[in-house]
Amino acid sequence: MFSPVFLCAFLLSPVQAQRNISGEVEIRQALEKLDTLGSVMMIGAHPDDENTALLAYFSRGLHLRTAYLSLTRGEGGQNLIGSEQGDELGIIRTQELLAARKIDGGEQFFTRAIDFGFSKTADETFTKWPREKILADVVWNIRRFRPDVIVLRFSGTPRDGHGQHQVSAIVGREAFSAAADPSKFPEQLQWVQPWQAKRLLWNTFAFTAEQQKEEAAIKDKLPVDLGEYSQELGVSYAEIAGMSRSQHRSQGMGAAEPKGSTKNYLVTIAGDRATKNAFEGIDTTWSRLAGGAEIAPVIEKARDNFTGRKPETLLPLLVEARAKVAALKDPLALRKLHEIDETIALLSGLWLDAAADKYAATPGTPVKIAITALARVPVQATLLGVKLVGMDGIPQLDLAPAALVFNEPSRYSLTVPVPQGEPNSQPYWLVEPKDGAMYTVRDQRLIGNPENPPVLEAHFRVRIAGAEIEITRPVEHRYIDHIYGEQLRPLAIVPPVGVAIPEQALVFASAASRKIDVFVKANIAKASGDVYLDAPSGWHIEPATRHFDLASADEQTTASFTITPPSIASDGDARGELHAVATVGGRKISSSTEVIEYQHIPTQTLFPASQAKLVRASILTLSKNIGYIAGAGDEVPAALRQIGCNVTLLSADELIRADLSKYDAIVTGVRAFNTRADLRANYQRLWDYAQTGGTVVVQYNVMEGGPFGGNPALLDHVGPYPIKVSRDRVTDEDAPVTFPNPQNPILHTPNEITQRDFEGWVQERGLYFANEWDPKYQSILETHDPGEQPMPGGMLYTKYGKGVYIFSAYAWFRELPAGVPGAFRIFANMLSAAKAQ
Ligand SMILES: [Zn+2]
Repeated sequence: MFSPVFLCAFLLSPVQAQRNISGEVEIRQALEKLDTLGSVMMIGAHPDDENTALLAYFSRGLHLRTAYLSLTRGEGGQNLIGSEQGDELGIIRTQELLAARKIDGGEQFFTRAIDFGFSKTADETFTKWPREKILADVVWNIRRFRPDVIVLRFSGTPRDGHGQHQVSAIVGREAFSAAADPSKFPEQLQWVQPWQAKRLLWNTFAFTAEQQKEEAAIKDKLPVDLGEYSQELGVSYAEIAGMSRSQHRSQGMGAAEPKGSTKNYLVTIAGDRATKNAFEGIDTTWSRLAGGAEIAPVIEKARDNFTGRKPETLLPLLVEARAKVAALKDPLALRKLHEIDETIALLSGLWLDAAADKYAATPGTPVKIAITALARVPVQATLLGVKLVGMDGIPQLDLAPAALVFNEPSRYSLTVPVPQGEPNSQPYWLVEPKDGAMYTVRDQRLIGNPENPPVLEAHFRVRIAGAEIEITRPVEHRYIDHIYGEQLRPLAIVPPVGVAIPEQALVFASAASRKIDVFVKANIAKASGDVYLDAPSGWHIEPATRHFDLASADEQTTASFTITPPSIASDGDARGELHAVATVGGRKISSSTEVIEYQHIPTQTLFPASQAKLVRASILTLSKNIGYIAGAGDEVPAALRQIGCNVTLLSADELIRADLSKYDAIVTGVRAFNTRADLRANYQRLWDYAQTGGTVVVQYNVMEGGPFGGNPALLDHVGPYPIKVSRDRVTDEDAPVTFPNPQNPILHTPNEITQRDFEGWVQERGLYFANEWDPKYQSILETHDPGEQPMPGGMLYTKYGKGVYIFSAYAWFRELPAGVPGAFRIFANMLSAAKAQ
């Protein structure tokens, strides 16, 4: 079977190729790339906006240097493979983009913008993203990458849907000329030069019938067939796109690998109109560099002489070209020099590796590094030196020039003590507190980078066929997994312990004290110290500190504290922030060490602050025993436990035949009707349960197909009477809320609901509201975004037999974990509905 994974190995660019199967195809691609000096950058707003087929066509087909600039890391989306949200989700999606780029051959860049969730207009987006800051970052990326052609993924009009999509094109257009203007963002010019791309294109898209009509009406559009078959690769660019796109697993973007013609269109927005191809009139040959004309014939000879056998016979030509390129003074020549060095290494079957004996190291402790140099093709190669870069004042390998013996590894090792002041390997965009919906990054040079530079890099100097080349490899931990085989994990610098408060918010529904657990986990052996909690005055904590002794790395202990909230007025609340701090050997640590592990991306480490919101509010509930039918995964059950509910997660078996009457209320989790076949098969059990006096609360589900698994036929039964779910959502978290049926008990019992309960919400009001429903339902809440029609379909109530059924598409899965007191009070009333009649 010709599996995509196997194919990926062939498709890797030379920079990553060392770890994988390389061969003829890869050499051919590298030689073609050496002969091409053009570059292209696509701009979109999110991971998955990019047209992977077009990227693959540019990179693998036209051999251009190709990049995707995503304004955000996709932090605001929903995670379909795990429970990570926000910062963690942004890290997963960053790595998924990098995995996709390895397949389609592109590079990946970002701005400092944070995906704050869905927005309907460009104006709404600009209220969260300062326009000048976004523009500065797009300009910076253009000036650094210097693309000949920029391709906008969106049009910059409401046709794009999401306001963030519109902004990516509006700012992309502006940046096309601003990047060339030295009066714009002059502070950048100490590192980069102004840059004028030659052409700005829009890659049109048409998903709906109406958009197809619009697209057909566009004159002067340039067709590109992305279904073109590459004999060299054995696949079309659209097929590569399917493989690449399927890396977006956290978005459920598994995609087809379509065969045959796939037409796409490019429309010229600025620069000379393209009528034949995207690069017409743009010199992408060596002639564009002063002194470059004499290099082209040498590179072309190497390419044309490659027969698939004895790649080392091409070395003299590459060495000749290298000398000429090294004499040129141009950033593009420097880039090509690097490509030539990697291609020389590829032709020589060179294996250069620096492996750490561990994946995590603490300042003051040693890391042992095993260095290997191997030529697997019979060439004259001499290892001249290896320099470790990334930490100050570390020892270096003392090495006399050593000839590499054909196919016999030369091995060296040295021990590096990690300097005491070495910072944690926190992703650079998470080091400083966020500035609204923008990351704070102090070092301009880091902006745009997809991830941190490696903690340590090994720079190998090798003489091959008379040329001295330099090859850089990250120091990583190499190990064998008994299921997945040989694996790599980035080396991370970690503190001696991590300390974590498991809840994002601690909610005190009454004046009673609560036991709070703090987890302390060792990153090293023999970690001892104390841990304490830091809270605002009025919050009483017992005891002041707790001692811990952890014998081995990865061992964890729980330190428990009792917290008593301050007293509040009957209609008031109290809020604050709680910090957990561990002291180890005089060092204070107030972060946890979080590891994100998935098979499709490299393992990631980050250090979230050990803090939680403190909320004291009056939250009453008449229901204690809650049955929860978890859907796509949400943290509502844990939130309900905080207000004293006993929450039981119902398995398929329990849903089918357990006695449900023991529950005071049964709640379906987000998208439970989409993800659980057992629920779709047994929904009648819920209505029977309501009939006999129970409360059923159904949270949002989606109607349409696509990544969230919507299926109209299966959604016919989300309520006991007909309800039609729409795509309507209210994205303004402060949108006014009114009560269409103010007398309904759900607004009064046991908690009296007022406007105050809608203050302090996060991200949005709700999503996938109903837009048609049976008259037996009463609408409880109405809200809508500015300038839109009223949407009363977010919360519907009906008595059913002796019980009550409630449909609620408000964003409880966001508001409850975030500790929004009003959301708890309303949710508690929903749970209590049958008892409150
Ligand atoms: Zn998007």
